[in-house]
Amino acid sequence: MDNPSPMNLGLKGKRAIVMAASRGLGYACARALAAEGCDLVICSRDASRIRAAADTITRETNARVHPVAADVSGEGEARALVAAAVEQFGGLDIVLHNAGGPPAGDTASTTEAQWQKAFEQNMLSFVRIVNAAVPELKRAGGGRILTIASSSIKQPIPNLVLSNALRAGIWGFAKTLSRELGPDRILVNVIAPGRIQTERIEELDHATAVRAGQPLDHVKRASVAGVPLGRIGQPDEFANLIVFLASEAASYITGQAITVDGGAGNAL
Ligand code: NAD
Repeated sequence: MDNPSPMNLGLKGKRAIVMAASRGLGYACARALAAEGCDLVICSRDASRIRAAADTITRETNARVHPVAADVSGEGEARALVAAAVEQFGGLDIVLHNAGGPPAGDTASTTEAQWQKAFEQNMLSFVRIVNAAVPELKRAGGGRILTIASSSIKQPIPNLVLSNALRAGIWGFAKTLSRELGPDRILVNVIAPGRIQTERIEELDHATAVRAGQPLDHVKRASVAGVPLGRIGQPDEFANLIVFLASEAASYITGQAITVDGGAGNAL
């Protein structure tokens, strides 16, 4: 073995796409990768919001951040994101797939149109960015494909049937992909948040409070009651794992689904 040395993340100058990044987890991950020296293409649907996110990240980190207004569900959008990375930065090393979460609901209340939309937004968007990005990742001699899923891949969550069903499929696809792309040194991992403080969580808590006829602070307290760390997580705590998995330091980790949930999941 070589002598021990400080962990080298090796992210300076790496070229990354971060999807659905104007707020929440995508934004926090983009900011954290930028702070490590990555060049970024980031997207979300609203042009002014994604430009504002890019400007803030550049101001804070000096990173090169190229905003693209794109709906991740669209067919041509994945190709456009990869083309932007090639045009702006000369290639691509890292893809962080992310999308807005599907609506809450149980099986009886969920329409076929909602199934179709959630499939396109959460699962097909992943297939599309993978198909668009893999040739460039191969050209770069390897890379990272990461996707933000949910702790529902290990423990389904009541009243989130769309997330429970589709994210299990995403995990199956990611595992398959990790075996297909390992020989090309493209590492594929799923990161599964439990409860991380974002606007989506605020919206879900409000919906629960209205549905149950309970005060919002009661809903919030109940939601962390089963978390051993006793609190909701912060986006930066989630982003730290993304940075590590995107880095050179994580060079022997692929085909994994890793939960960031403060210990809430109770499965082995
Ligand atoms: P959020 O709603 O706070 O942010 C979502 C981001 O995605 C925003 O920037 C939004 O503009 C963008 N977006 C939404 N739909 C898009 C589309 N079709 N095309 C392009 N951009 C789009 O959500 P979040 O909490 O950051 O969650 C991110 C993902 O992680 C979601 O899929 C969510 O379901 C999942 N998740 C989050 C948590 C959590 O604790 N925050 C837990 C489990 C799963």
